[in-house]
Amino acid sequence: MAVLPIIIAPDSRLKIVCDPVDEVNDEIMRLMDDMLETMYLAPGVGLAAPQVGVAKRVIVVDPAPRGAEPLPLKMVNPELIRASDETNKHEEGCLSFPDHYSDVIRPSKINVRYVDEANQKTELEAEDLLATCIQHEMDHLDGVLFVDHISLLKRNIIVRKLIKSKKQAAE
Ligand code: ZN
Repeated sequence: MAVLPIIIAPDSRLKIVCDPVDEVNDEIMRLMDDMLETMYLAPGVGLAAPQVGVAKRVIVVDPAPRGAEPLPLKMVNPELIRASDETNKHEEGCLSFPDHYSDVIRPSKINVRYVDEANQKTELEAEDLLATCIQHEMDHLDGVLFVDHISLLKRNIIVRKLIKSKKQAAE
């Protein structure tokens, strides 16, 4: 396994629509293992392939509290098949937006269809933190970022700060 570099926003590679995966082969399995290792080290609760520069519909999440038994989920080609009218507000962060957090409102309960690491079609019902996490990561596959769900004013403040810290890091 390997730790992969995480792309920090703003970056055009975070705004693309990713391609579906034909088959979960060794390359995809390795990618998912590397993504999990990268996510745990960061640490984070979810990571999408475009955040490590791979334009494929692959996400990993683990909503387990820190110190608890890990609950890693590897999802290929995830599709939302149902979302509740009821919503939840969670403070979200993103490994591509270090140190920035904002409340985001999303459906509180979802059903997702995806291909698992054994190349089998699977369905999952998720609620609360896991539902938030999966929706956040699935958004990444269509180039949608959590800041796209908040006000333009707040988004501009965050993006400006990120541009500034990128410039400082380059100096
Ligand atoms: Zn994210």
